[in-house]
Amino acid sequence: MLTSVVGYPRIGAERELKFASEKYFKGEIGEKELLSVAKDLRAEHICSQKNAGIDFITSNDFSFYDGLLDTAVLCGIVPGRYKELGLSEQDTYFAMARGYQGEKGDVKALAMKKWFNTNYHYIVPEVEDDTVLRLAGTKIFDEYQEAKENNIETKPVIVGAYTLLSLCRYTGSKRREDYLDAAIEAYKAILAGLETLGAKWIQFDEPALVRDLDDTDQVFLQKLYQGILTGKGNVRVLLQTYFGDVRDVYDTITKLDVDGIGLDFIEGKQTEVLIEKNGFPKDKLLFAGLVNGKNIWKNHYEKTLDVLEKLKAQGIDTVLSTSCSLLHVPYTLEAETKLAEEYKKHFAYAKEKLTELRTIANIAASGDRDAFEAYRENKELFEKGRDCEDKDVQKRLKAIREEDYTRLPERTEREQIQKEALKLPKFPTTTIGSFPQTKDVKKNRSSFRKGEISETEYKAFNREKIKRAIEWQESIGIDVLVHGEYERNDMVEYFGESLSGYLFTEKAWVQSYGTRCVKPPVIWGDVSRKKPITVEWSAYAQSLSDKPVKGMLTGPVTILNWSFPREDISIRESMTQIALAIRDEVLDLEKNGIRIIQIDEAALREKLPLRRSDWYSEYLDFAIPAFRLVHSGVKAETQIHTHMCYSEFTDIIPAIDNMDADVITFEASRSDLLILDALKKCNFETEAGPGVYDIHSPRVPSVEEIVTALRKMRDKVADEKLWVNPDCGLKTRGEEETRASLINLVHAAEQIRKEA
Ligand code: GLN
Ligand code: ZN
Repeated sequence: MLTSVVGYPRIGAERELKFASEKYFKGEIGEKELLSVAKDLRAEHICSQKNAGIDFITSNDFSFYDGLLDTAVLCGIVPGRYKELGLSEQDTYFAMARGYQGEKGDVKALAMKKWFNTNYHYIVPEVEDDTVLRLAGTKIFDEYQEAKENNIETKPVIVGAYTLLSLCRYTGSKRREDYLDAAIEAYKAILAGLETLGAKWIQFDEPALVRDLDDTDQVFLQKLYQGILTGKGNVRVLLQTYFGDVRDVYDTITKLDVDGIGLDFIEGKQTEVLIEKNGFPKDKLLFAGLVNGKNIWKNHYEKTLDVLEKLKAQGIDTVLSTSCSLLHVPYTLEAETKLAEEYKKHFAYAKEKLTELRTIANIAASGDRDAFEAYRENKELFEKGRDCEDKDVQKRLKAIREEDYTRLPERTEREQIQKEALKLPKFPTTTIGSFPQTKDVKKNRSSFRKGEISETEYKAFNREKIKRAIEWQESIGIDVLVHGEYERNDMVEYFGESLSGYLFTEKAWVQSYGTRCVKPPVIWGDVSRKKPITVEWSAYAQSLSDKPVKGMLTGPVTILNWSFPREDISIRESMTQIALAIRDEVLDLEKNGIRIIQIDEAALREKLPLRRSDWYSEYLDFAIPAFRLVHSGVKAETQIHTHMCYSEFTDIIPAIDNMDADVITFEASRSDLLILDALKKCNFETEAGPGVYDIHSPRVPSVEEIVTALRKMRDKVADEKLWVNPDCGLKTRGEEETRASLINLVHAAEQIRKEA
């Protein structure tokens, strides 16, 4: 049985690409050095797949920033404002991804969005009316060729035309339908180019096919592929889907002249049924995504083999595959030197998944499971189970009453009480929590971790930082202060460390966007709060100022969504356990004099089912109550904030209001404030701080620019409900640009107060 990998992580096991790119951005290394790091990584990645016995290895899954952006650039989708900078090809690319501010101009980055239901972000390509969509690059050819030079035949991948055209933003009057012919020609040219090089397969990633597709979508898809596939020549086409099932277009795609179809058996709830009911064409290979590309638990061989046997019984020619790209899991368990074997034996990262693929395929091919020690071992592992239950947690869960999900008094009544208690000016200014994580801040934490400095020294350093941050915020006139989050590495791991049931890894980095990686902890067992988490820092910060200092927590939905979840209990149950733990922290903060508490839900939307029909029943109906459970116990005068890292919630505004927070801050500057119309239309009740500038980029917004944004916001949000803040936390920014930006922000708020 053959095996296939949809895509491999590219940042490097030691995050080599991240570090090289960052050096390049700072001008510390040149393009040549950056390219050479990238080349080495690519070689290593395909070689380790080859060595593991993978048959279908992907090339061109490498990216300097994002695969969708790569595909857009390959197709000539580069907005004029970036071309006009007159930068090198590489730097034009980075300008689109990160913005550019320098001698040659000042241009913001393209928008960034979460890639389907993952924590990976893609860059949103922009199509202008005069964009000429055509084959305009060579990356896919170069990387295929490069692999070949390493004696490895690969299946180059690009984002398929349907997903590409569906995810683009159209800034003019044209729509995706207007690019049908051009896209067909471009993709045909790609096929032709690969044919010339002797490629045997190409993989078109089409995750957009697992969403709800209406008739127009289906017709568009069909036309697009019928056109593209006329240019197939000798290159075989794998239509790869993932993150769900293709129920709306199963019929359409199985009738296309493709040679392989990749289906997700992990997240695709209906995948098996679709195949059973409709059959699978004899002339195509089924790439069965049975090894989870998103989670770190070992595959349950028995279950997988059962499915493979069923497929075989149906006479289907099957290739065993990952369920999606391994981009979403860390590199290798080999790097986890501190994690006990007792835990490790339950896990498989990218490299171990390669072995799983090969092993399972071998067992399936032999037909005699028990002859394989690997099979017997795996079976035993799952039969034995894990030591992960906590009786107290389960008791507490059972004791939750319906009224624990509701905060009283109601919002309007609270609003008055809070206005009197907090005495904030109109258009209060605040930030989202973190301040720049400068070298010294990171050093302090890592020295403490390594035992190089004592706890007293560690704390003294952070206190000094907090003190300076408070003084500085007061001096420039910010109204609601933050302590700066100097004690945190990231917003989930930090909390997880004080929660029982959590496990931490050393090297389990996963790319989030560009050079940013996260290291999600693992939910191993039942969760509860071991001890107060943030209280000491927040209380200290508050003691330094008469202005309110926000307590800063991560909410249960985000903690869960940014962890590797358990597979043995439901997401709902895990989330409720975490909510109870964070509730304890909220009440402790309040007891210690914190008057405003922000509960970040940066990842609330992330696990929203991709199909609208599942949104409430399979997610929002428990995720929103879990958030309310966290704060329902506070006094009326305690103000609850929440924060989200995107403005993509036009369609779930009632659910957001239902979180019953008093204030919400969210990203808005990168998406043209479109969300505001929707808030107005829905009579959004929560006070709102739409971000007035983009923190993903080092550029400093001018006062004028912020004032303009605020004026637009005032048209849509009532003055009494409007807050002034950046898009997100400032941890990834430098100190200098942060200062300059926040000073401008305060000046802008002052000016708006005069206008109001
Ligand atoms: N409070 C966090 C911070 O400012 C929020 C981060 C986030 O939303 N990703 O860093
Ligand atoms: Zn954010």
